[in-house]
Amino acid sequence: MRYLWAGGGGFGGVGHWRDKLSPAKRRVYDRSDTVTSIPLLPGPVLLEAVRGLQDALGTGDRRRVARLAQHVADALCQGLRLPVLRVVVQGRRPSSQRGELHGLYTPGEQSRDTVRVWMNTAKRGQVVAFRTFLRTLVHEICHHLDYALLGLTDSYHTEGFFMRESGIVRSLTNEARVHPTRGATVGDGGPAGRQVGAREPGSQG
Ligand SMILES: [Zn+2]
Repeated sequence: MRYLWAGGGGFGGVGHWRDKLSPAKRRVYDRSDTVTSIPLLPGPVLLEAVRGLQDALGTGDRRRVARLAQHVADALCQGLRLPVLRVVVQGRRPSSQRGELHGLYTPGEQSRDTVRVWMNTAKRGQVVAFRTFLRTLVHEICHHLDYALLGLTDSYHTEGFFMRESGIVRSLTNEARVHPTRGATVGDGGPAGRQVGAREPGSQG
């Protein structure tokens, strides 16, 4: 499983885990680090799904958000000719001293790789900002891409990983001309992806 926590103590910096890895895992880590982009050209179906997701999030209707988040994941995976994922959208984020849990990737759950994204903040239960939600969704999908597209045997939070994530988010939002997120609903430490905690690599469950 891969967790995305943000806003807490933070992540000890990209590269922090590398020193603890075996030589074989280090090679996987380094390969992850060298791939800085994903060859994704978002088509109209994907861009429409992203726009729909933004609208759905604005309504706060979890079922609708879940349906659109699934559409985004489906279109993204189809664009890359990959097996589709199951997307689950949940309400309030679990929280701990590490911060709030934004997302979770679980390979092979119920025979299908699953991405979970939480759509409400832990403290006040506010709907999270669209960009934060989209980034979390893409972040978790990027773990899927590590295995399914790049053929990596493990998925690490390397600089390359975050560049791949940012590139996809940019391609989805620039092209979709998504209007800036209104309101300060983040309140959770800002954009996910900078302060990120990961479960220790190698302890995959
Ligand atoms: Zn992650």
